[in-house]
Amino acid sequence: MITAPATDHRLLKCRTIDADFVVVGGGLGGTCTAITAARAGIKVVLIQDRPVLGGNCSSEVRLWVLGATSHMGNNNRWAREGGVVDEILLENTWRNPEANPVLFDTVLLEKAVSEPNLTLLLNTAVNEVLKDGEAITAVRGFNSQNSTTYEVRAPLFCDASGDGVVGFLAGAAFRMGAEAKEEFNEGLAPDQSYGELLGHSIYFYSKDTGRPVSFTPPAFALKDITKIPRWRNIKAQDMGCRFWWLEYGGRCDTVHDTEDIKWELWKVAYGVWNHIKNSGLFPEAANLTLEWVGTIPGKRESRRFEGPYMLNQRDVVEQRRFPDTVAFGGWSLDLHPADGVYSPKSGCNQYHSRGIYEIPYRCLYSRNVPNLFLAGRIISVTHVAFSSTRVMATCSHAGQAVGMAAALCTKEKLLPNDLSSGVHLANLQQELLRSGQHLPGKALREAADLVQQATISASSTLRLHALPKGGEPLPLDVPRAILLPLAAGPVPTMTFWIDAPQGGAVRLELRTSNRPDNHTPDIVLASQEVTLAPGLAQAVHVTFPCSIDQARYGFVCLFGSPDLRVHTSDHRLTGILSVACKGDAAVSTHGAQVAPPDAGVESMEFWTPQRRPGGRNLAMAFQPALAAFDASQIANGIDRPTNAANAWVADPVDHHPTLTCSWSQPHAIRRVELWFDSDFDHPLENVLMINPERASPFGVRRWRLRDASGRELAASDDQHLSRATVILDSPVITDRLILECGETHGGAPAAVFAIRAYA
Ligand SMILES: Cc1cc2nc3c(=O)[nH]c(=O)nc-3n(C[C@H](O)[C@H](O)[C@H](O)COP(=O)(O)OP(=O)(O)OC[C@H]3O[C@@H](n4cnc5c(N)ncnc54)[C@H](O)[C@@H]3O)c2cc1C
Repeated sequence: MITAPATDHRLLKCRTIDADFVVVGGGLGGTCTAITAARAGIKVVLIQDRPVLGGNCSSEVRLWVLGATSHMGNNNRWAREGGVVDEILLENTWRNPEANPVLFDTVLLEKAVSEPNLTLLLNTAVNEVLKDGEAITAVRGFNSQNSTTYEVRAPLFCDASGDGVVGFLAGAAFRMGAEAKEEFNEGLAPDQSYGELLGHSIYFYSKDTGRPVSFTPPAFALKDITKIPRWRNIKAQDMGCRFWWLEYGGRCDTVHDTEDIKWELWKVAYGVWNHIKNSGLFPEAANLTLEWVGTIPGKRESRRFEGPYMLNQRDVVEQRRFPDTVAFGGWSLDLHPADGVYSPKSGCNQYHSRGIYEIPYRCLYSRNVPNLFLAGRIISVTHVAFSSTRVMATCSHAGQAVGMAAALCTKEKLLPNDLSSGVHLANLQQELLRSGQHLPGKALREAADLVQQATISASSTLRLHALPKGGEPLPLDVPRAILLPLAAGPVPTMTFWIDAPQGGAVRLELRTSNRPDNHTPDIVLASQEVTLAPGLAQAVHVTFPCSIDQARYGFVCLFGSPDLRVHTSDHRLTGILSVACKGDAAVSTHGAQVAPPDAGVESMEFWTPQRRPGGRNLAMAFQPALAAFDASQIANGIDRPTNAANAWVADPVDHHPTLTCSWSQPHAIRRVELWFDSDFDHPLENVLMINPERASPFGVRRWRLRDASGRELAASDDQHLSRATVILDSPVITDRLILECGETHGGAPAAVFAIRAYA
């Protein structure tokens, strides 16, 4: 028994922890920051004020993690971010294709606690910062669950807390609201009538109970649904993220008024549900009950901190190049009216760039607190640029750059700004690429990678003669196209097959993009009109009288009429996709972006793929065969399709696809990395969207790695991540590494983006 004599006062139990790097805020951005740093070998403490990780994507708030893929609704092809966030999304899809938010929590928690270098403090709210001069020396926080205060000391800190509690307390320069148009020449900078801040939202989930359920609303529920100008958009089946527009608070102080905003959002959420259940307009809702209502509002915007550079609208739209690129974005510039659910205006205004844009390292640390990194929505960007960088996969990607930078700073005893140029910056970029982070225009070049000096050979290599007919023909009610990785030089002659029961005409265009690694088909290289007599499966041959300047994707576009049908193929291949110029319910309903005058954005068409299980390739033949899948590409330092397929693809008739790296002398090899095709085009939404597959149909499921003697060094029978890392207990001395690929998850021929081998 404990007896405690009466006393004047007592102190809470206090624990002091020393670390190399402290991350405050366990949203997805903070979590990926902490995991990246821990994997890079430094001692990390991740402090999160809530019981689970994920922030807005945890089961407490339930937003789907989005990024540059933008639900596959814009022109950013193969644009999933890579790195830790990618591993998390792939693992979640493998375990949780039904997109259960509670299971997503477990994936995140497991990833964090599996890192021996990472100490996770849950339920711990940081509310004090200690400083020595300009630098932070420690943060303090309180855990109400175990009645303990923590003091966590380190040389480096990252604020990933959403509202920027550390930066605020440490005196870091910040902004809240919108910049004037003139400051950064931003055409989209809003005025007071639109409002300068995005508001919060609270979601709800419903469930069919199989029998009628009544609903009595709480007294605080909104009674008059017409207070919501868009109330006619409410649908009984909608829930969670589909109600993103139930937003409020953009005219409040989104830091300090959050509790008031939450009450208003509860009022709206229960009012909407009352409307669904009791207005009589939704008989289909009779058996539905409220399964869950958020208790923590998702916060879109509050403070943004100033780094040495502030990314702005023009950087995003013009896809400006930066020497210190360490991440990329690709979500639209997505501004919302500050009056949110009570505004008669459209819930959002989204404008996309022609491709992904770069995020420089100088946006990721405070300009005046020398040891403070920034991650998540608070990075150094203008209000307009923030409207794009704020999505969680982008937050995570930039966070990973912070995690890696923190590890390099720790090892070299540097401060964040020391990494902004020169050899340290180059090192940071290479380390990021090595960890799977895609950086536009950058390739991994590692002297230590023995495959760079190897002779690479393959049991077979796909020479694409044809994508054979087999799938259901598709009407040419919308323009359709196939994206092909074309080499510099003449374009092969191509054949399509078209049903034209009454005859007709089809126009074929060869298009490409303004930049080699963009996938917006905005430049027409050649065009040809073909008249079709009545008949089915007519072969349409096309020879475009032009040549390609450098390796880049070509779009062969077919324009016809609804009575014409183009044949499709059941064959799926790494680096080849078919798309259509049409609207996407989740992104652009019009199939095109029309730039308003003076908005500083660009008009463009959207040519987007259909989600699987649909989304078949167009059936076609090539003369000569398309040679885009050479094994040499596994050493080119790029691990996804960009301007080329960047992959070795085996011939589909090869039943034992094998890649061999050989050297003239034996080498001692300790670590090998294999990169497979996890389909970087697929967004892998973690809630609501049921994924048709647990793993990419292009991904090799089984593989074996052998040395020159045929000895098995490592193997997997359920590979579903992009990367497999093999670390041998003792180095193997060999002059050959042989990778045998078994079947892929979805019947596509085996494909490998990279093999890397290290002593
Ligand atoms: C309604 C809504 C819809 C959105 N839609 C999407 C979408 O569909 N897809 C998408 O990707 N993005 C979406 N966004 C944007 C995205 O969710 C946010 O921009 C993103 O979550 C910001 O990441 P973050 O890590 O900075 O903040 P958060 O995700 O909020 O994470 C910050 C974490 O820090 C913790 N924290 C805060 N203070 C402290 C403290 N003092 N001590 C310790 N921990 C602390 C918080 O509890 C939280 O877990 C949406 C946002 C909202 C609100």
